[in-house]
Amino acid sequence: MDCIFCKIATKETQATIVYENPEILAFEDIHPQAPVHTLIVPRRHIPTSNDLAPEDAALAGKLLLCAREVAKKKGIDQNGYRIVVNCNSEGGQMVYHLHLHLLGGRPLGGKLCK
Ligand code: 5GP
Ligand code: ZN
Repeated sequence: MDCIFCKIATKETQATIVYENPEILAFEDIHPQAPVHTLIVPRRHIPTSNDLAPEDAALAGKLLLCAREVAKKKGIDQNGYRIVVNCNSEGGQMVYHLHLHLLGGRPLGGKLCK
């Protein structure tokens, strides 16, 4: 399968990895939109949030907790940050391997849409 995030997960493609465990990987976005812009992904290829099954509830929770840990490690937890999941074309999804964007390090504004 030609998936860039699967390739990052197997180290076939280079990325700046900030956290990893057997289920989850966090790495820096190649085109950061903020001083902190980290992507949190499951190692398993799940295309979109639509593809999360009830059995994935624990994994989904761990992705969120990983984002929280990275925010703490980056020192943005107290000032605040944003976690974004884009789904399909109108959600602006470009890479079809489920990922959370962790954004912070500057005021992000009050608008959900830009
Ligand atoms: P999406 O629009 O799918 O929610 O976000 C995909 C994100 O992946 C974008 O922010 C983009 O900059 C990032 N991205 C795309 N290709 C690569 C890559 O090869 N390496 C890394 N580290 N990030 C990537
Ligand atoms: Zn994948």
